[in-house]
Amino acid sequence: AKNSGKNKFSIFDESMLFEFNEKIRIEQLIRSALDNEWFFIEYQPIIDKSTGETSSFEALIRMSEPKLMPNQFISIAERTGLIIQIGRWVIKEVIEQLKNWKINGYNLKPIAVNLSPKQIYDGNLVEFLESQLKINNIDPSLIEIEITENVLIENGDSNIVTLQRIKDLGITISLDDFGTNYSSLNYLTYMPVDKIKIDKNFKDKFINFKNNQFLEGIVFLAHTLNLKVVIEGVEDEDEYSILKKGESDFLQGYLFSRPLKKEDATKFLTKN
Ligand code: C2E
Ligand code: CA
Ligand code: CA
Ligand code: CA
Repeated sequence: AKNSGKNKFSIFDESMLFEFNEKIRIEQLIRSALDNEWFFIEYQPIIDKSTGETSSFEALIRMSEPKLMPNQFISIAERTGLIIQIGRWVIKEVIEQLKNWKINGYNLKPIAVNLSPKQIYDGNLVEFLESQLKINNIDPSLIEIEITENVLIENGDSNIVTLQRIKDLGITISLDDFGTNYSSLNYLTYMPVDKIKIDKNFKDKFINFKNNQFLEGIVFLAHTLNLKVVIEGVEDEDEYSILKKGESDFLQGYLFSRPLKKEDATKFLTKN
């Protein structure tokens, strides 16, 4: 028995080594991607439920070379601190895209940027946002940030102060992944947010084609706290027809559009 135990241990060890090497490899890819501009942004339309029109976009990062999705590198970027540089790149890229659309005569729509807790705790975030907006002559109301409850795990008090300062600039703040943790409702009462984004898994679990009272109850509750509600991951018409009857404010999902290259996102904008 002792022997097999040892054997198991060595197998475990090898997989750990593999994982370790994989992390180092991805960390190096992230550094190269930052140096060589291998990151790009896709823009996913968010639909105003009352009009059916695109009211804003969410910026989602991608790596082009090799092709990697955020789930493959964001957590490693968070652990290594590289997320600070990635985040600054995303903010800069998105604000420059807005400027670009503006120069070309398009009517702008707000773009939401995902920020991880470490970025909120970065001492210069507020100044960075403010200066990028100023340099490019973009109104703060055209930027939204999406955060998760995880901002409260470490340095929660400090992060709340930072979020409030961001909000004071005129930037909208959304609480992302709503419903994936149990304490969401409690946090809502003291986080300076304007919107909640109901997570796809939560929606999938609770959407009810006969009687959608539970999901609508959450929407009602959010509204009593003066929060707008986005429902994420809407993939099919049946869901849409249920949600259309409800009170949520915005919908997002493959049914309306996948995340788009900037050229394709431009098609969702109008000119005067
Ligand atoms: P998220 O913020 O919850 O973003 C929504 C994810 O759901 C995106 O995945 C999007 O492509 C996907 N999605 C949208 N509509 C549908 C749908 O109808 N069905 C399904 N199954 N999925 C849908 P993506 O782009 O792979 O991003 C994954 C996560 O990576 C994001 O989740 C976010 O947490 C993180 N992320 C993405 N970009 C950034 C970034 O620039 N910075 C940071 N810190 N995190 C990012
Ligand atoms: Ca998000
Ligand atoms: Ca989300
Ligand atoms: Ca998510």
